[in-house]
Amino acid sequence: MNSFDQFINSFKTTQKTWLVTGNAGFIGSNLTEFLLAHGQKVVGLDNFSTGYQYNIDDVLTSVGENAAKNFSFIHGDIADYETCVKACEGVDIILHQAALGSVPRSIVDPITSNRSNITGFLNMLTAAKDAGIKRFVYASSSSVYGDSEELPKVEERTGNLLSPYAVMKMTNEMYAGVFARTYGIEAIGLRYFNVFGRRQNPNGAYAAVIPKWIGSLLSGEEIYINGDGETSRDFTYIDNVIQMNLLAGMTTNPIAFGQAFNVAVGGRNTLNELYSIINQELAKHIDTFKIHPALYRDFRDGDIRHSNASITKAQTLVGYTPTHNIKQGLEKAIEWYLKNIKKSEK
Ligand code: NAD
Repeated sequence: MNSFDQFINSFKTTQKTWLVTGNAGFIGSNLTEFLLAHGQKVVGLDNFSTGYQYNIDDVLTSVGENAAKNFSFIHGDIADYETCVKACEGVDIILHQAALGSVPRSIVDPITSNRSNITGFLNMLTAAKDAGIKRFVYASSSSVYGDSEELPKVEERTGNLLSPYAVMKMTNEMYAGVFARTYGIEAIGLRYFNVFGRRQNPNGAYAAVIPKWIGSLLSGEEIYINGDGETSRDFTYIDNVIQMNLLAGMTTNPIAFGQAFNVAVGGRNTLNELYSIINQELAKHIDTFKIHPALYRDFRDGDIRHSNASITKAQTLVGYTPTHNIKQGLEKAIEWYLKNIKKSEK
């Protein structure tokens, strides 16, 4: 039994009420499912801008009728302060995931992203403070490392930001730090590094690379690699992200408050390697699958060239122990997409 399993055993006997914003989306739906499956109460808040009712339905079906009774949902927008106030009623811990993701989206339309990612963030933080909720765990991003070439990325050292999205996530961290120092909010920022896994949307212009490639390979569409394919990332399976949210939600270590943590595996794979692993995994499952060459096109604006996290801070301060590397995660994710890809088509 690892330390997270031990933690979960004690966690099952303490019921808290968690607010998961963005719970109709990829990460939020997975957090909601885990919490409900472990005897917790969950309030969800989402405006369905990039999330879907079918994700909520899927979570409630998978946890079963009894656990589903511990769930309530507010269909609303975090850019509306009163909605945030309502969502905070009776809540012990907040896992704030709602935001408009995607670097390219923020480059095309910074104002719309800013509304959810900065106005919405500040609304949630203020509503938490006004409701007397101390623990505020929120999604930041590896994009805050900007053009820093240092590897692995260490929390204390960031570079010049490369996109409006990165500005928004960095601003979140600055607000959270100020709320920790000024109002005693136990804010903990999680800098996610390329998260993937079940329920991540494979469709749309701003789909993340892993679900997009799996979806395109399954439907026989062309695959494009931006740049020369040697761009690298610390691809992080969703179960590692769930673990870190729970540890951050429950930690009693005051040194963690007002801080931001890398959430990753501490590995690094190029896009070319990723493409090859996905092809190999699909070939394991589909007899007729043929390995398919990808097409190369221009580099994408705002992209960091290499990304690889140091996870020492998360390991040391809150006991984070990632359970899945990229291959273990992809095996599970691909099994899920093979069963569910039809459902997530839109
Ligand atoms: P997602 O798009 O699947 O989920 C985001 C959810 O937030 C959606 O359900 C959406 O409808 C909701 N939302 C957006 N704006 C809202 C608003 N104004 N009011 C209420 N709900 C709103 O994305 P995800 O991948 O699950 O991302 C979750 C969080 O993690 C985001 O903050 C994102 O920026 C961050 N993040 C994700 C990754 C990743 O690799 N997936 C990496 C870094 C950071």
